Amino acid sequence: MGKKELTTLFSSDPDRYYRVPLFDQIGFSRQRCSKCGKFFWSISNKESCPDHEYYSFIGSPPTNRRLDYVSTWKEISDYFRTNNHSIIGRYPVVCRWRDDLYFTIASIIDFQRIIGGKVVFEIPANPLVVPQMCMRFNDVENVGLSGRHYTSFCMIGQISSANSPGGYWKDKCIELDYGMLTTVLGIKPEEITFVEDVWMGAGAFGNSLEYFVRGLELGNAVFTEFEGNENNFRIMKNKIIDMGAGLERLSWITMGTPTSYDCSFGPVVNKLIELTGLRENPGIVSKYYEIMSGNIGEDSLGSDLSPGASNANAIRPVIAKRLGMEEGVLAGIISPYEAIYTIADHTRTLLFAIADGSLPSNVGGGYNLRIILRRALSILERAGWKNIRLEDITDSHMDYLRQMYPELEEHRDDVKIILGIESQRYLGARERTTALAASIKKVKKKLAIDDLIKMYESDGVTPEYLLEAGAIENIPASFYSRLATLHSERTPARDQKPLIGSEGLTATRLLYYEDESMHEFEAMVIKVIDSKYVVLDQTAFYPRGGGQEPDKGRLDSFEVVEVFKRGDVVLHRVRNAATDLVEGKVIRGKIDAQRRSSITKHHTATHILNRAARTNLGPWVWQNSAFKEQDYGRLDITHHSALSREQIKRIENSANSIITGNLPVLINIHDRGEAEQKYTFRIYQGGVAPTSNVRIVNIEGWDIEACGGTHVKRTGELGLIKITKSERIQDGVVRLEFVAAESALNYVQELENSLNIIMQSLSSNKEKVVESFLKSMEDTDLSKKKVRTILKRVTPLLAKSVSSEAKTLPGSVLKVYSIDDHQLDDEFHISVGQKSVELDKSLVYVAVITKDEGIRVMVFVGEEATRIIKAGTIAKEVSVHLGGSGGGGERFGQGGGSIEYRGKIRDALSSIEELIFRNIEK
Ligand SMILES: [Zn+2]
Ligand SMILES: [Zn+2]
Repeated sequence: MGKKELTTLFSSDPDRYYRVPLFDQIGFSRQRCSKCGKFFWSISNKESCPDHEYYSFIGSPPTNRRLDYVSTWKEISDYFRTNNHSIIGRYPVVCRWRDDLYFTIASIIDFQRIIGGKVVFEIPANPLVVPQMCMRFNDVENVGLSGRHYTSFCMIGQISSANSPGGYWKDKCIELDYGMLTTVLGIKPEEITFVEDVWMGAGAFGNSLEYFVRGLELGNAVFTEFEGNENNFRIMKNKIIDMGAGLERLSWITMGTPTSYDCSFGPVVNKLIELTGLRENPGIVSKYYEIMSGNIGEDSLGSDLSPGASNANAIRPVIAKRLGMEEGVLAGIISPYEAIYTIADHTRTLLFAIADGSLPSNVGGGYNLRIILRRALSILERAGWKNIRLEDITDSHMDYLRQMYPELEEHRDDVKIILGIESQRYLGARERTTALAASIKKVKKKLAIDDLIKMYESDGVTPEYLLEAGAIENIPASFYSRLATLHSERTPARDQKPLIGSEGLTATRLLYYEDESMHEFEAMVIKVIDSKYVVLDQTAFYPRGGGQEPDKGRLDSFEVVEVFKRGDVVLHRVRNAATDLVEGKVIRGKIDAQRRSSITKHHTATHILNRAARTNLGPWVWQNSAFKEQDYGRLDITHHSALSREQIKRIENSANSIITGNLPVLINIHDRGEAEQKYTFRIYQGGVAPTSNVRIVNIEGWDIEACGGTHVKRTGELGLIKITKSERIQDGVVRLEFVAAESALNYVQELENSLNIIMQSLSSNKEKVVESFLKSMEDTDLSKKKVRTILKRVTPLLAKSVSSEAKTLPGSVLKVYSIDDHQLDDEFHISVGQKSVELDKSLVYVAVITKDEGIRVMVFVGEEATRIIKAGTIAKEVSVHLGGSGGGGERFGQGGGSIEYRGKIRDALSSIEELIFRNIEK
């Protein structure tokens, strides 16, 4: 059964699924669309459903109230508050609580958690209303062009858990929404149509009533009643009302502006018009958007437009015809407006995403952010609007949205920093691609959409730029949505395969959680799989997980080499066949306490460092991944650039001040919903906890995370944290390697050992070692210079003796000089070899230089001698004898071999004569 069949099923029993008392009270009657057969409820008699209706509110809104974006929210939130709803703050647009999504795509997502593949609702108040900013990148090419598409929009979520205290079901819901439309927005009842529909979400679905005014869908009230899928479902214990209404549309219906952007971005559009000095063509622009806004998308219509036109570019020629204008002239007037709307949209999206801790990059969700950022920059560049900076536009958004989203203020500067860095990067990429565009133009290469995607992915070349450079004629309509789909789906870490034999066993009791200091324990053998995987009724062995390496130790006399979990069962792999470990036997387990202690310290250090990095670098720092071993730890953080020495020091200083502070590390189990509300989604540094309870590790006053690993009791136990290495491992991710406690001491001691060796060889002391080193480097440079001068002077003499020492080949004018040298280097042989063959034109000069790291072969051949043999040929032959390869030209050749072939040098050199003879015979 699909959505259509489900709609038919629900509509076959309208009294059960759709009729509400309000419909009868006000006089809404049920009607059927003559065009598509859908059922709808309306006061007046209508031929068809709103899907086939024109946006007749543009220019003449059906209400005498005029509410801009923020005022619309203010009025609506007041209304619901008066009607006993909690108004809660928005959730982050970066969806940290779901590992299948990068961004929050609908208001209901706030309250959905996935546990064991099933959706569970986590609703902090009942009933509630939330102004949820949502992000969607699948329609990017229509954004700014269609008049009503956005990459981010506010979905007002009205949520009621019907069977919980305070909750209500569909009668009350529709009554409230009807009240919102009529009393808050001032819309007359006969303007409103409710359409019967079905909404299917992840793991749950229900019938729904969508409400429309003058062809514009304003909201959709979903009565989520069933869990499962359409073929296999049951009624939920806790039914959920999920009403979602786009704030942009609610404001638009009262304002009736040509586009939804004009009222939703507050003063931002006007500011942009002012900055660009755009001359209004009010008549044409309004007319154009009236037609455009009402006609794009799945509900498009119009006698000369094909229904369902999916992109704005396809509609433009039709509008030109209707307005009696030439397409080019119309485009000239409209394009700057499209540019302004696009920039207004993209900057608002970037503002929310960056403020919520996301970074533009080439991976994950950051991908879409970089796309729109570069698109915005590219548009500014193309239009020649040099006086507009994206940072100023995000500032204006923030000023306008202050009442609604005061939390943005805290990140005003962070957003600017990131936009600044990314703008610089864009310029860099732009320079690199100028040449590329030119070459495409030159060879008149036709680029397919796949080529464009490849160029964007590998070099960051935007199609806007190629268009401007004349390398392409137009931007394929689906370019941005193709890119977005490539990068919008997140693949959650796949569950590991069950180990055959471990299914159906009862959960292992985890002693390491009950007492982290327990190193010895007794347990009963439950099962031994493949005579090497031991399952116990309880264990103190920590299994591999959360980036923490497993414990090692013994089960009786058997050495445990690996510990891991499958489901709730812990498996201990032992080195030798566990023949004595039979089911039911009570054994003694003993874990390597020192190893555990060291791993535990590195683990706790990860928490401290993660927070230290965020404090010192910025709010976009999140743990990307982590690894905790006995000897060291590794923490990958999300950050835009490689770290400077100064930044690393600052992070180390903060981390170590937390150690000096000896803060308690508190571990408690919390209800997941409570923990999220109390500590925010920052707790999900190591990923989402797919459980109804979360284990919260709280380094008091510093860092709070949900974590299942082992931790010290107080930070003082760590003694010292030292970052040993930092590198940018991929776009947007920086790796920190570090040591803590004993490992940190070892590290410092080793450094000191190295320093001692250096001091001794310089005959210096600690205080003066740097000075001595620099002095010694100077001396070395001076010596090198001296050697070069000497070499220059003696080369002619040496060349003469080479010529006289060379062996004349019988029956030939050729002379060969070869040397197996352990002392002198390339520089010497280049100088002497070159001079020798210059002096003696029938000479072949071959030097084999042996060094610790390998064997070098250098060959010079005099001008006369090249008639018989080339330098490259000899270099190749000799190198092959030495287990390597070589080559080159007529006069000079080089190659090399491996040091293990040192004993073959004599053979290799004697092969030269044979090679020459073979060439003479030819
Ligand atoms: Zn219809
Ligand atoms: Zn932890």
